[in-house]
Amino acid sequence: MMITIDCAGDSDMASELQNYLKKHQYDVETEESSVMLDASDVEKILGSFLKDNNRTEYSIRKIDSKTFLISKEVPIEDFGFLRCEMCGYVVSSEEELLVHRRAHGIQLL
Ligand SMILES: [Zn+2]
Repeated sequence: MMITIDCAGDSDMASELQNYLKKHQYDVETEESSVMLDASDVEKILGSFLKDNNRTEYSIRKIDSKTFLISKEVPIEDFGFLRCEMCGYVVSSEEELLVHRRAHGIQLL
């Protein structure tokens, strides 16, 4: 099955991925910042690619059965957001976080 790997507009990443796949004998096609290949274990291949190229700040997301997205994880804290340590819920202020945490307290009773 033909899988599309969307590099989120990053054409450098797309060509790096293309070279990597070619080196590993995969048939690839590139269209702007997307790489298309016919393989079944794409998630595993992408994992090795990111590891081998020290792209550890990137992550792989499965969009649907034929599309994967590689994008850089941006810590939400960089944008002034806060995250609930219990469930990962994102809020924009200390007050909101306090209110949100109370919800966990009520659920736990
Ligand atoms: Zn929470």
